Amino acid sequence: MHEMTLAISAIKSVIEFARDNDIDEIDTVVLEIGELSLVVPQYMEDAYYAAVPGTMLEHTKLRMDIVPGNGICRDCGKVYNIIEHKGRCPVCGSESKDILSGEEFNIKELLVLEDEPE
Ligand SMILES: [Zn+2]
Repeated sequence: MHEMTLAISAIKSVIEFARDNDIDEIDTVVLEIGELSLVVPQYMEDAYYAAVPGTMLEHTKLRMDIVPGNGICRDCGKVYNIIEHKGRCPVCGSESKDILSGEEFNIKELLVLEDEPE
């Protein structure tokens, strides 16, 4: 279950970033996860909530933005969703392609609690 390793490293990065930037009220951590990254969102969520207790992220929420796994066919130039079409170009049937997106695993955004105006 490599999600736990990834979750822990993401959590460490977020905490370091928050310390360096004097952020102490994180509400939501947003991860960007590609469909082709082999990260299972459900496992990632479980790993995240299992790993945050005792850290400054203990009461944060996790949001995952899924990036579609798109490829471009090397034979006809069609851009298609690799998962949906099982790696085969829907126009010409070729399996030769370049991956355009979907291998991401990034910390995309930290949503911070705003102070209530006085
Ligand atoms: Zn094609």
